[in-house]
Amino acid sequence: MFDYCIVGAGLFGSVFAYEASQKGKKCLVLEKRNHIGGNCYTKELENINVHSYGAHIFRTSDEKIWNFMKQFCEFNHFINSPLANYKGTIYNLPFNMNTFSKLWGISTPQEAQNIITKQKALIQKEPENLEEQALSLVGKDVYEKFIKGYTQKQWGRACKDLPKSIIRRIPVRFTYDNNYFNDPYQGIPKGGYTKIFEKLLRQSEVRLNTDFLRHKKDFEKISRKIIFTGTIDSYFEYQFGALEYRSLEFKEELLDTPNYQGVAVVNFTDENTPYTRIIEHKHFEFGTQEKTIISKEYPKAWSQDIEPYYPINDEANQALYEKYKALAQKEHKLIFGGRLGEYKYYDMTDTIASALKLCERELV
Ligand code: FAD
Ligand code: UDP
Repeated sequence: MFDYCIVGAGLFGSVFAYEASQKGKKCLVLEKRNHIGGNCYTKELENINVHSYGAHIFRTSDEKIWNFMKQFCEFNHFINSPLANYKGTIYNLPFNMNTFSKLWGISTPQEAQNIITKQKALIQKEPENLEEQALSLVGKDVYEKFIKGYTQKQWGRACKDLPKSIIRRIPVRFTYDNNYFNDPYQGIPKGGYTKIFEKLLRQSEVRLNTDFLRHKKDFEKISRKIIFTGTIDSYFEYQFGALEYRSLEFKEELLDTPNYQGVAVVNFTDENTPYTRIIEHKHFEFGTQEKTIISKEYPKAWSQDIEPYYPINDEANQALYEKYKALAQKEHKLIFGGRLGEYKYYDMTDTIASALKLCERELV
C-alpha cells in the first residue's frame, strides 16, 4: 500500500514526492510521458542541454524557494535578456530605454516618458482587456510593434478578447536595463533541470509511460491518497465541458554553426512569422560547442490529444474551473495541484510554493 499515488512527475508532483519521502511516506509516482520533469525536462544532445518544452529560466523573489532549489542544483549566473525581432529589426526587451532609444531615436528617460505619457492618455478608463491594458501601460507604438502580433499568435485570439492578466508580467523601465525579470534570484541549473528531478524522485517508485486515468481504479486501490497534477477536467471526464488550454509545437534543429543568434531567446513580434520565439539552447549555459541547437516555438490550438501548455484564464474558463474545484473538494482521498491541476498560469516558483504549502498542510 502506498501513502501517496502522485500523478505527474513534473515539478509539483516531484517536490511533493520528495517532501513526503523525507517524512517517511511511501510514494508511487506515475507519469504518462517517457521521462520525468514535466515541462521543465531537459535532454542532452550534442553536449548541449536542450529545454525540450521551451525556455525555462528559474527566478524567484522568495529566498526560501531559492534555498530549496539549491539543495538539488547549482545555478549559473544567466540573466534573461531576450530580444525582439520585428520585421528584421532587433530591439531589446523588456521595454526599457534601449528599446525606446532604438524605436524613437531618443536618449533620455524624460523623452521616453513624454512619448509614452502622450500615447497612454488615449486610454482614460480602467482597462478591461489585454489591448486596453497594453495601451494604458506602454502606448500605441510599443503595443503595435511588440505586443499585438505576438499576443495574437500566442493565444489565437485578438488582444481585445483576452484577459488583461496575461501581460501583468512584462516590465516597463526607464533605465537601460535588459534583465527581463525583477526577481533578485535568477539562473539556470548547471547541467540542466532533469538532474534535479532525479534527486527529487530518488526515494519514490516511478512508473513512466503510465496514464493514471486508464487504470484509475487499480491505482486507487493501492494508495491511501491521490495527488493529481494533470488537467482537473480530464480527471472528471469533462463532465461539465472541457476547460480551454493553449498548446505549442517545438521544432528543434541542429545547425552546423557555433552561434546562430547570439542570445538564448528571440521573440518574433510581427503577426506573419508563424512562430513566436527561437530558443538557442547553448546560450543558457554559455556553451562553446562547435554546433548549436535551436527550437522554434509554434503556438497551436489545443485538443484533448495534445499537450495543454497554458491555461486560458478568462472569465468563462475560470467559472468552469470553479465547478470542477467544488467537485474536487468533495473527494477526501484526492488533491489537485500544479499548473494543470489548479488551472493557474504558474511559473516554477509559484508551482514550488504551492507544492510546499500543500506539504505543510498534508505532511504533519
Ligand atoms: P507539468 O510540468 O505540466 O507536469 C505535469 C505532469 O503530469 C506532466 O509530465 C504530464 O505528462 C503528467 N500527467 C498529466 N496527466 C497525467 C495522467 N493522467 N497520468 C500520468 N501523468 C500525467 N516557469 C518559469 O519559472 N520560468 C520559465 O522560463 C518558464 N517557461 C515556460 C515555458 C513554457 C513554454 C511553459 C509551457 C511553461 C513555462 N514555465 C516557466 C512554467 C513551468 O513549466 C511550470 O510552472 C511547471 O512546469 C509546472 O509544473 P507542474 O508539475 O504543475 O506541471
Ligand atoms: N508578450 C508580448 N510580446 C513579447 C513578449 C510577451 O506581447 O515580446 C505578451 C504575450 O501576450 C505573452 C505575455 O506577454 O503571452 C507573457 O509573456 P512571457 O514571455 O512572460 O510568458 P511565457 O510565454 O514565457 O509564459
